[in-house]
Amino acid sequence: MRLSQGFFPTVKEVPSDAVIPSHQLMLRAGLMRQLAAGVFSFLPIGYAVMKKVMTIIRQEMDAIGGQEFHLPALNPIELWEETDRVKAFGDIMFHVKNRPMVLAPTHEEVITHIAKDHVKSYKAMPQIWYQIQTKFRNEPRPKSGVLRGRQFTMKDAYSMDATWQGLDKSYELHREAYKKIYTRCGLTFHIVGASSGAMGGSGSQEFMVESNAGEDNLAVCSETGYAANVEIATSLMPNAGRVEANEPLKEVHTPNCRSIDEVAAFLSMPVGRCAKSLIFMNGTQPVLVLMLGNDQLNETKLQAVFGQEIRPAQTEELLQLTGADAGSIGPVGLEGKFTIVADKRLEEANGLVCGANKNDYHLMNLDLKRDVKVQAYYDFRMVEEGEPTPDGKGKLRIVKGIEVGHIFKLGTKYSVSMKANFLDEQGKENPIIMGSYGIGVERIIACHIEQHHDEFGIKWQKSIAPYDVHLICVNMNSEAVVKRSEALYAELTAAGISVLFDDRTDASAGFKFKDADLLGMPLQVIVGEKNLKNNEIEMKDRSAGKRWNVAADVAAAEAIAFVRS
Ligand code: ATP
Ligand code: MG
Repeated sequence: MRLSQGFFPTVKEVPSDAVIPSHQLMLRAGLMRQLAAGVFSFLPIGYAVMKKVMTIIRQEMDAIGGQEFHLPALNPIELWEETDRVKAFGDIMFHVKNRPMVLAPTHEEVITHIAKDHVKSYKAMPQIWYQIQTKFRNEPRPKSGVLRGRQFTMKDAYSMDATWQGLDKSYELHREAYKKIYTRCGLTFHIVGASSGAMGGSGSQEFMVESNAGEDNLAVCSETGYAANVEIATSLMPNAGRVEANEPLKEVHTPNCRSIDEVAAFLSMPVGRCAKSLIFMNGTQPVLVLMLGNDQLNETKLQAVFGQEIRPAQTEELLQLTGADAGSIGPVGLEGKFTIVADKRLEEANGLVCGANKNDYHLMNLDLKRDVKVQAYYDFRMVEEGEPTPDGKGKLRIVKGIEVGHIFKLGTKYSVSMKANFLDEQGKENPIIMGSYGIGVERIIACHIEQHHDEFGIKWQKSIAPYDVHLICVNMNSEAVVKRSEALYAELTAAGISVLFDDRTDASAGFKFKDADLLGMPLQVIVGEKNLKNNEIEMKDRSAGKRWNVAADVAAAEAIAFVRS
């Protein structure tokens, strides 16, 4: 493609809402333009990348036996009512105004609808069905460019199995295919255990790209390979345990001590012997959660025990239920009225300080075996930077991550609600066992740029670069330079190399070099007057930043070898 003839709207300035590198560079390099909040037009060079990513995805999905579908984005609303997901998605789902239809944010319902009529025997399984298609989600805060759009492209796949072992196998096939896809797309990533959230199901993992532009927090450790979303991450922290002296409970005056640090300092006690009480409402039932010292409660872990609806009690509720304000609450005397649970680090601990349910008073020598009946101990902690990994062999780092993919063991949630049953070997009817697997196509592109760029522009890796070579004719007024550039363009193109040829007559050399760095093709081939006088042509490896000269006659061969290596 000749730059003089193509549509390559590179720009210097970007709108102020473009703050992360990938968003800025996708605009500057002319990959896309915003049409509305969270809605983007992909321009030819951006769509070229998208097609390459989609090809890689197709190849790897086909390799695990996936069969490609193309399902409608416009869905009858009744289908979504069958699984009760009109409610579950709420405002995230786009509703059509003049028909009882919705724009699909995902396709479990349509897939299950098809499976219900046609996958009726264990003999018809396993099946892997996938598509690469537009999804619509009314994200409340579309931001970071294509990373969170209201319309985006997803590869979504669904597996159908007759047995749970079958599901494990289908899940594993996807996990391996995903690893290949992201690796081929030039991404370094973590596979993290995730909470399944509103999707339901038993197991789920997310593929995360480490990046400051991410919205998720991850706990990772490169020595041990541990990686988990902080929502479910665990660490190996010692329990408080028991102290030898088992004194009776004693009430002490702790004026103006609100925080654990203030109480510990005032009583000359280690923070690690203080038990903090947090009050939640589970419907009308108050729940008291005991945490050790300054350990932070992880609300996702709390929800995993009590359900999504549990909420922190309000200030007035605290006073009414316990007789004290937040800093002075404790479990003693609240039994019966409260569900009392504690973090595992407090298991059977004694010699603790806790609130006395009386403002400005605390209890010392609390023994969780003796003084209060803790109903159960759970891991409720939010892990922190530097803590030991669960196996104790490494240290956790907390990093930001962008989710580029998610694999779920759905189980029978959708087949049960939509009555998609099959006959097993014994002729018994069972719900189909399903998995669901998603990849964000635009997110792969943005993540690639997040991981491969510098201040001058994008550094496309070969696998998804829009063109293999950026050929720059530096002096359009020199006949020899033009002739040599044209010959190279013809020769490389004939060899099947895709070339972006900067043959503009109205752009200065400096401008051409800037554009080449911004657009970021893996190899730049620079034909300039000075070098050509010595019968040489310059090459630049954009990623490595390496430049070298080659004899003009072997320039094409050198470029071909670079692209194919
Ligand atoms: P997030 O937590 O980031 O909203 P999600 O859990 O809603 O993602 P899934 O429903 O699992 O995402 O969708 C599968 C994949 O689709 C995600 O891993 C992500 O790559 C992509 N994706 C999801 N929402 C968006 C969006 N609004 N814009 C672009 N890509 C998205
Ligand atoms: Mg989402």
